[in-house]
Order: sequence, then C-alpha cells, then structure tokens
Amino acid sequence: MEVHRGRTTGLTFDSVAVGLRPLTVKEPAEFTAPHEGRNQDIDPATGARVIPVISPVDGSPLSAITVADADSIDQAVKQAATAFESWGETPAKERVQPLYRFKQLMEDNIAELAAGVTAENGKTPDESEAGIRKGLEVVENACALPFIEKGGLQEVSPGVDCHIRRLPLGVVAGITPFNFPAMVPMWMFPLAIATGNTFILKPSEQTPLTPLRMRDLLAEAGLPDDVFQVVQGDRSTVEAMLDHSGIAAAAFVGSTAVGKQVYSRGIGAGKRMLALGGAKNHLVVVPDADVELTARNVTSSVTGCAGQRCMAASVLVTVGDCSDVMDAIETEMRQVVAGRNMGAIISQSAKERIEGYIDRAESAGARITVDGRGVSVADREGGFYVGSTIIDGVAVGHECAGEEIFGPVLTVLHVDTLEEAIAIENTNRYGNAAVIYTTNGATARHFEQQASAGMIGINIGVPVPREPYSFGGWNDSRFGAGDITGEDGIAFWTKTRKVTQKWTPGAARNWMS
Ligand code: NAD
Repeated sequence: MEVHRGRTTGLTFDSVAVGLRPLTVKEPAEFTAPHEGRNQDIDPATGARVIPVISPVDGSPLSAITVADADSIDQAVKQAATAFESWGETPAKERVQPLYRFKQLMEDNIAELAAGVTAENGKTPDESEAGIRKGLEVVENACALPFIEKGGLQEVSPGVDCHIRRLPLGVVAGITPFNFPAMVPMWMFPLAIATGNTFILKPSEQTPLTPLRMRDLLAEAGLPDDVFQVVQGDRSTVEAMLDHSGIAAAAFVGSTAVGKQVYSRGIGAGKRMLALGGAKNHLVVVPDADVELTARNVTSSVTGCAGQRCMAASVLVTVGDCSDVMDAIETEMRQVVAGRNMGAIISQSAKERIEGYIDRAESAGARITVDGRGVSVADREGGFYVGSTIIDGVAVGHECAGEEIFGPVLTVLHVDTLEEAIAIENTNRYGNAAVIYTTNGATARHFEQQASAGMIGINIGVPVPREPYSFGGWNDSRFGAGDITGEDGIAFWTKTRKVTQKWTPGAARNWMS
C-alpha cells in the first residue's frame, strides 16, 4: 500500500487567538462521507483512488492514502497467513516480549506521537497524549497474558482429567474510526497479537498516519514481519476485508449505521464479529448534586476532544430545581474556547452537520444559551472549529435529544422526578454511558441499577473503565457479544480446545468410557 507521508505539525492550542464570526443561516447539512469534497484523485499508474489527508487544525494537506482494493487485501491476508504459521505456534511468553518493548517505545516517543495525532485529528496535544496512554493500558494487559491465561486442569471422573487450551483464530482484522487514531487500534491489536493471531488494521481514511507510526514501532520492537499490517482505504476496502474468507474475525469501532452494516456483512461471510457503534450519553443531575464538581465535570465531558468521543456527555437531564448547576455549567462552558483550550472538529462536513443540528433546534424553539456556531480561529481560518454549545429546552423527541451530534454540544432537558429522567435515558436507542450527579448513595445506586447503559458514571462524566475493567456499551452502541477489551477481548480473539484424557487403564468405568 503506497502511503505518501507528509508533514506533521506540533501545535500549541493555548497560544492561539480566537475570533468569532457572525452567524450565517445555513441550509441543514447533509451527513456526507468525510472525504467528499476533498478532491479525490485517481492514480494514473494504477487506477487506484487516492484520498487526501487534511489537518482539521488549519485545513492544510498532510498526506494522502491510496485506497486498497480487493487484490491488495488478498495480498495482505496471504502475508498474514504465512506469518501466522510461526506466530500462532510461538509460546505466549515469547509473543508478549515485543509488546513490552513496543510500550516502552511508545512512551519514549509520546510527544512526537501526540503531535501526529493532533495534526491529523485536531484534538489538543494533551488529549492526544491521554488517548495514547489509555491505549497503552491494553498493551499492559496484553503483556500480562501469560499470567492471566495460565489454563486449568481438573479431574472430572476418577482417573479422567479435563483441561482447556486457548488458541488463536488465525488472520484477524480491525476497522477503526477517526476520533482516537492510536487508542482504538490499541483496544484491538495488542490482545489479538498476544493471543497468537496476525492482525490487519484498516484505520479511518481521515486519520491513517498514526497507525503507520505504530506499525514502525512494533517492527522496531521486534515483532516479526506481517504479524501486524496496516491497509488504507474506506468503505470498499472494508467490504473487501469482510468478504475475504481468509479473515477469521473482525472488530469494528465507529458509527452505529456503519457498525450495523459491517457486523451483518461479516457475520454473513462466516466471521466472528464485534462492532461498537455510536452513542447518546445521558447525564442526570439531581438537586443535591455538588454544584462545582458537576459543572466542571459535565463541561469537560461535553467539550473534551471537541465532543468527538463516544463517551462524551450529550444530553443533560435536570431533575427539579437545578438552576444553580445550570448557571455554573454555562459559566464553565464559556471558559472552553475552540482553538485555545478545545481542539478542532474532524472535517468541514462534520462542522456543518453539528451546526445544522444547532440551527434546527433554534428553529424549533430551543434556547441556544451558549452558541458555538460560526467560530473561526485566527491564523487557522482553514481549520474546522465549533465552540461550546448549550441547547436548552428542546422537546424530548427532538433530533438533538435522540441523535448523535458528535460535537461540543450539550442538549438540556428538564423533568420533575428521577423516574422521568431514568425513563428518558432508557428510551434512547444507544447504551454506552449513563451518568448521575448526586451526593446521595441511595439515589446513585438506584440510577446504577435502572439506567440502560454498559458503563455507568457516578459523579464522573466520562466513565471509561480503566483496564483491566473492560470497555463496551449496550443496545445500539454494540453489535455482537462481549466487551472489546479485558477478559472479553481475550475471548473474542481466541477459541478454546477442551481436552479430556485418561492415562490409567484401570481407572473407574462410568458412562464416559
Ligand atoms: P464511521 O462509522 O464513519 O467510520 C468507521 C470506520 O468504518 C472507518 O474506518 C471508515 O473508513 C469505515 N467505513 C465508513 N463507512 C463505511 C461503510 N459504509 N462500510 C464499511 N466501512 C465503512 O465512524 P467515524 O466517523 O470514523 O467515527 C465516529 C463514530 O465512531 C461515532 O459514531 C462514535 O460514537 C463512534 N465511536 C464509538 C466508539 C465506541 O466505543 N462505541 C469509540 C469511538 C468512536
């Protein structure tokens, strides 16, 4: 796969001046493919499509990728299958050695890696580094595999023993989104590789560069050739991977609409599949909540990574009189300024999609109490920015209360009772995170038991479990069984062989023998 590497910029956000442009009324934006309008080229030598990689920070071109076609995927699978012949036979204690070294190399190079994530994704350097460190927790877990998976043996009948062996599946794949170019791939490949598989990663075409750097560091760490490969492309590349009979399993992380399609297509092709989708996380605040903690926490959940996190706060449901909390949230949200202490939105089409939601909420009668539309950052006019936004007072059924906006936008609903708040949370189709702000343990416990989400926060706005506690949502935030990391991750990338043996001819006879 030919990849043209371009410049990657080191960026400081806090020194950037910010100017606000007047709001212009726009037509509601269509949700367009991210590279649409990015002047895709055709490579005249090969006929392959070439997609430019644009920095959201300032709109400058960083690089370009050549879209892998079915033949390229077939070649990658063949190489991975050859590598699997020896890698699959390598004892786990040896397989994890390159991962120890990889973790160290990632840490040694973290400033450069974070600058690369910032350049292609647009988040602030601190956020980029945090994402890398969070991903490295899975590497730590993978390094511990020989200690976690030591197996077990039990005498199940007189003189008859059973044991289980956990075996790799073969060639496996991962398909990842734009919003965490380092972390989400690390949810997948460390466990897949440590368990003996060979892995093909198809990163987002919007953020394809960081995975190449990780591939190079894995090679430097001593991982054998083709145990980890990166293929570049978009939908057509993913479809070629899902249709390839040589790939045994695939994990996907991205939007719900795509995740559903990818999951069904992979299952239809006989693969083991797990697809994590989008989210609409509800945060509930009750009147006894700590005002300062809640305001800071909600704000960082909405605005971190410019709201482009599947664990971001999206809907705030206030119960009863929470006006002091709302005032404090508004004050906090105004302190978070795009281009200064908040990063960019991934693309122009994403910016238009987000602003379209705000426009339509306003037209439907909502109050936009903090308005992030029309933001432009001085000296980065070509970048894509949306400021912190609060949409207050939409009806429960409005699109802003039900659809994933994926930007720094908080939709606020007001109800009288906790039961009403829980009912609203329960009826939303997603189920990644749900959060309660309260100082009352019984209220917290009740919410934890009633909310319909895989990850619950109590006074924590981004309740991402730290490893070894595993990551995964419910409902339309996940298709397939189990979480993507932790014990479920190990189970996903492996199959078990159960062995029953008798070495004592005189052992007691029963229905088994
Ligand atoms: P996306 O669904 O557009 O793309 C994800 C991947 O699928 C990319 O590699 C892309 O090239 C590929 N793809 C796109 N369209 C496809 C199609 N029609 N068929 C096959 N493959 C296709 O997602 P995105 O915009 O890159 O990422 C944002 C989304 O990811 C949000 O919805 C966010 O909530 C979600 N996300 C979820 C989690 C989670 O853990 N649940 C984590 C991170 C991001």
